[in-house]
Amino acid sequence: MPSYQQIFENNKAWIASKTINDRNFFEKLAQNQQPDYLYIGCSDSRVTAEDLMGAAPGEVFVHRNVANLVNSIDLNVMSVINYAVKHLRVKHIIVCGHYNCGGVKAAMQPVDMGILNPWLRNIRDVYRLHKDELNRIEDEGKRYDRLVELNVQEQCINVIKTAVVQQRYLEEGLPTVHGWVFDLHSGRLVDLNINFEKILKDIREIYDLTKK
Ligand SMILES: [Zn+2]
Repeated sequence: MPSYQQIFENNKAWIASKTINDRNFFEKLAQNQQPDYLYIGCSDSRVTAEDLMGAAPGEVFVHRNVANLVNSIDLNVMSVINYAVKHLRVKHIIVCGHYNCGGVKAAMQPVDMGILNPWLRNIRDVYRLHKDELNRIEDEGKRYDRLVELNVQEQCINVIKTAVVQQRYLEEGLPTVHGWVFDLHSGRLVDLNINFEKILKDIREIYDLTKK
C-alpha cells in the first residue's frame, strides 16, 4: 500500500509513462471525452473499473456505489445515466457486480444496519423477488453468489426502466445494457448475457416511458 506522500510520487511516474511515447497525451485528454461505455459498479476497492477492463483514460464513464445499485430516487446515479445517454451518447451501459460483495452480504443478514437500511433495502427487495430460487440453494456461499448475479440483473432492469434509455433506444437502437460479474478469485469478468431486447419488451406494459 503506498504511503500518502508516495501517491504523489506515483502520479509523477504515471505522467511520465503516459507522455513518453505521446508528448501531447494530456493536451488531447483535456480537449473532450467521448466514451462508448458507461460503467456502473461497486465502490469495493478491489474492483477497479478501468483496470479490469484494460481501458484507457477517456474510454469509460464511471459511477460506483455500494453494491452497484440503480435506484430511481438516487439523484446521483440517475444524473450519471441521463448525462451519459443524452450528452455523451454512450453505446453500452454496463452494470458490474462482484462475488464477495460486502453490500450484498450485509443485505443477507436480517439485522438493523442503521443508515445503511434504506440502501440495503434495494438488495433485500431483490432477494424477495427471487426468494423461491434463492431459498432452494442450500449452500450459503452459492446462494450469496446467486444473489450477486440476480442483483446485477435487477439493476440492469432498473436502467432499462429509465425514460432516457428507452427513448434513445427507440430513436437509434442504442444504448444496450449489459450485466457483468467480476470474480475476485480469478480476476475474470463474466458476462451474464442479459437479454436486453426481451427485458425491454417485457417491461413495456408497465414501464413504457417512450411517449412524452
Ligand atoms: Zn461490492
